[in-house]
Amino acid sequence: MQNTVNQSIMPVTAKINENGVLEIGGCNVVELAEKYGTPLYVYDEDTLRASCRQYKQAFSPYENVSVLFASKAFMTQTICAILKEEGLGLDVVSGGEIFTASSANFPMERCYFNGNNKSSEELELALETGVGRITVDNFFELELLDSIAKSKDKYVNILLRITPGIECHTHEYIQTGHLDSKFGFDLSQLDEAIELIQERFSNLTLVGLHAHIGSQIFETQVYSDLVAIVSEQFAKIHDKFGIMLEEMNLGGGLGVQYTSADDPPSIFAISEVILNALRENLVKYNLPDPKIIIEPGRSIVCNAGVTLYAVGSSKQVPEGKKYIAVDGGMADNPRPSMYQAKYDALVANKANQKPEETVTIAGRYCESGDILINDIELPETEPGDIICIFSTGAYNYSMSSNYNRIPKPAAIIVQNAQSDVIIKRETYQDLILHDVIPERLMCPLGDGHPLS
Ligand SMILES: *Cc1c(COP(=O)(O)O)cnc(C)c1O
Repeated sequence: MQNTVNQSIMPVTAKINENGVLEIGGCNVVELAEKYGTPLYVYDEDTLRASCRQYKQAFSPYENVSVLFASKAFMTQTICAILKEEGLGLDVVSGGEIFTASSANFPMERCYFNGNNKSSEELELALETGVGRITVDNFFELELLDSIAKSKDKYVNILLRITPGIECHTHEYIQTGHLDSKFGFDLSQLDEAIELIQERFSNLTLVGLHAHIGSQIFETQVYSDLVAIVSEQFAKIHDKFGIMLEEMNLGGGLGVQYTSADDPPSIFAISEVILNALRENLVKYNLPDPKIIIEPGRSIVCNAGVTLYAVGSSKQVPEGKKYIAVDGGMADNPRPSMYQAKYDALVANKANQKPEETVTIAGRYCESGDILINDIELPETEPGDIICIFSTGAYNYSMSSNYNRIPKPAAIIVQNAQSDVIIKRETYQDLILHDVIPERLMCPLGDGHPLS
């Protein structure tokens, strides 16, 4: 079976040139670091487009499929422009994501709006911008959305998010009858929700069910179980309410490779499991072909992205670890400190040199836990060397912060030896943009003061 981009830490265009320097998208990454500064998020456009195409190709044996990108993994106007060209839709979870998509002229009917506590303002924005589907998470939201729809005299197509009772723990999973999740309707609450839609919430039309079982999933069997559970609900709803649902949203979650220890299934392996389970269950329950929706986030963008850092200080603890410190860390990549996530790296300007020492790559933020990689073997490094950490395209920029009042890095996209900024580097001025000093605390700034 063909390998797919989620199975390799390297972007598809990565190579080491004759001078031993890492190149991505035909660009020498050391030159990128010089031109744009560090830390720097670099996205490889070919890898991004390859993941979109692999998803579309993998599901092409089934006629009626929509692939949505779960935009929380990495959301910018440029991503919207690329996804629009590739024919994908978007899974959005906030007013900010809706606004970003709509500001980039993304076809809003291809957007599905998810979330367990959407505000009235966000639901109104969704209706005003023409978001295609709203995935309703709970009873409170059913009532809220119906009243907003009535006040605007609009009819809304909705899915109900369910908690299917499958819980994934990355490499293994357990199945439970009832799951304590903050997301979605318990299966036992589904009848009541549908009765309410039929009897009271007349501006809502139920068109499907949505389930999302977790993230960084390496197990294919869970998707087969999920299809069986959702199909059974389709059959039950048809028998009890006479409603033939048309859309089955199976969420995202496919895992990616962060280090060579990770062996995720390919996009083709996942689609095969899903489509086989679907065929089986449609026959078993005698259901017409529904539209299948999948919403991968991580596996679309993770391996397209790397982060470049410059080496600064280093420290050898007597009879202990050697630390090398870089100019970024937990604010541009919170995953190691949040989830003990593991990464792999290269010294980009010494990419073909043999490892000589075991070091720990530390960030620059004021937390002992700000360690990007523990115990990695690298060639001997010097200040100014460029460290490239791989697989940082998902949930890095989107979870970044200004901790320690440090401006967020820039992001660029590379292709065919060309590089372009997609997110500008923040400045110190950006950091104080929203600061306000109440007048009573304002003391005049002296002449010659930088802010006077
Ligand atoms: C986060 C999320 C996704 C995407 O998950 P990945 O693991 O990034 O593929 C899809 N759907 C929903 C509802 C999510 O919350």
